[in-house]
Amino acid sequence: MRGLMQDSPLTIDTIFRHVEQHFGDVAIATNSPKGVTRSTYAEWAQRTRRLGGVLDTLGISADGRVGTFGWNSQRHLELYFAAPCTGRVLHTLNIRLFPEQLTYIANHAGDEVVFVDRSVFGLFWPLVDTMKTVRHVVVMEDGGDAELPDDPRISDYETLLAQAEPVEFDVRDEGLAASMCYTSGTTGNPKGVVYSHRSTVLHTMAALSPNAFGLSVRDVAMPVVPMFHANAWGIAQAAPAAGSALVLPGPMMQPEALAKLIVDEGVTFTAGVPTIWQGVLPHLAGKPHKLRDIGCGGSAVPKALSEAYREQVGIPILQAWGMTETSPVASSGVLPKRFQDADDATQAERRSRAGIPLFGVEARIVDSETLEPQPWDDQATGELQVRGPWCAKDYYAPDAGVELSTPDGWMRTGDVAAMDTDGSIRIADRTKDLIKSGGEWISSVDLENAIMSHPAVKEAAVVGIPHPKWDERPLACVVLNEGSSATEEDILEHLKPLVAKWWMPDAVEFIDEVPKTSVGKFSKKDLRSKFAEYQLKS
Ligand code: ADP
Repeated sequence: MRGLMQDSPLTIDTIFRHVEQHFGDVAIATNSPKGVTRSTYAEWAQRTRRLGGVLDTLGISADGRVGTFGWNSQRHLELYFAAPCTGRVLHTLNIRLFPEQLTYIANHAGDEVVFVDRSVFGLFWPLVDTMKTVRHVVVMEDGGDAELPDDPRISDYETLLAQAEPVEFDVRDEGLAASMCYTSGTTGNPKGVVYSHRSTVLHTMAALSPNAFGLSVRDVAMPVVPMFHANAWGIAQAAPAAGSALVLPGPMMQPEALAKLIVDEGVTFTAGVPTIWQGVLPHLAGKPHKLRDIGCGGSAVPKALSEAYREQVGIPILQAWGMTETSPVASSGVLPKRFQDADDATQAERRSRAGIPLFGVEARIVDSETLEPQPWDDQATGELQVRGPWCAKDYYAPDAGVELSTPDGWMRTGDVAAMDTDGSIRIADRTKDLIKSGGEWISSVDLENAIMSHPAVKEAAVVGIPHPKWDERPLACVVLNEGSSATEEDILEHLKPLVAKWWMPDAVEFIDEVPKTSVGKFSKKDLRSKFAEYQLKS
């Protein structure tokens, strides 16, 4: 017997219409060097329909790739909907990538047009001739002052919008590609993840759920995580779908500016990578605010950072785990029932985990070669593998030899994790960042967490250094808080009660800053090459 319910397709235009019909008066604020611009979802919806008309006027193919190169802004949100709701494919380019990678990605995806914020036009324009399929460059005025050359490929967003007719959105096929995002990848070329309408709608529902971000009409949401990387963690769809007001930082990503927006705009929910919250903390501490949750992920959230927020801002950090390949949110560190009345230290420990998979995602830990399942005893580790309707099964036209899925249909994450009896995930490391000492693995993440709990330490990153006897030994690279001091002995003394003896770093190097990747994560790759010739004393 078959169910007798309607087969309504799960397409992004259903989100669009819901926002247009029910949340027209809800506010969208975008920051810029010239101040905050204010609008509503009603204006946004009208402009988004006209933007659909612009894509027609520009002659973008029926499923053409629409590139974007910009900050979190209302115009970017218009593109987030106009491209997929007209059957095209939104392709967010990461503005912080190296030029060669941008060229590779735009050519690989086959972008026909790229919408560029004026403040980053200078980064983009020198590459335009290397991007073989790009026929149009549309400039979005965001308060930037880059010179615009006289070139027939360039047009102005607002001029095009003013001339365009609004279009109807009616995507019937939920399996169509809606957007794509390239992940920097650990080896080889960047890899394209292609989201469908269906995966995006389901991920939106999951991101909205109370065990994840729990957005509603009561919220003012501020995604600090960029719309140019990993879909702003789904907030760009989830906040409108829930009727939450939106605050978009634009190019104003300085910690002071972010803290000011949180306070002035009454932000209730925000999300970003740990380095962002590290920077914002001193500007937010002690200030009046309406925050109920600060989402954080993309790399391990140090317990010390979450606790500093609890003590100085009044709320701890809500950790989430995910990847570009998982749309990206796949698990959240929300406290399970039995820990809700636990003491502060126990709760802090729980919050330092990636947590429980969101409903819709299943997770397992296995031996990455034999796929032998590992026990959920919080001790054994294995490769974390996931499956669910918003996890990728393959990359877009991948290079030979790149296999994302296992033969039995699970997605390989490249993360090493342990799981406890509840199936709560504790990320131990990324496969390539583990340190192998005497045949045993040392988790760089656990060591960093322990070092960062020293009050004088601002940031710590641990990398493996080749060692003749042990294969590799840990080197701790430490950045101290301004005005603080600590010696190598102080750090090692602090670690003694916290980590196994054989995990103790062989050396501590004090550095000015941990190099960061294009999305603000610690760049272990850069650190490893910086210390490539490093000689350990023993
Ligand atoms: P990349 O950093 O390679 O461009 P992503 O942004 O998709 O790609 O990053 C995904 C990776 O980030 C995960 O595989 C994991 O290693 C790391 N990560 C994400 N969230 C967390 C978390 N909460 N704790 C530890 N690591 C995390």
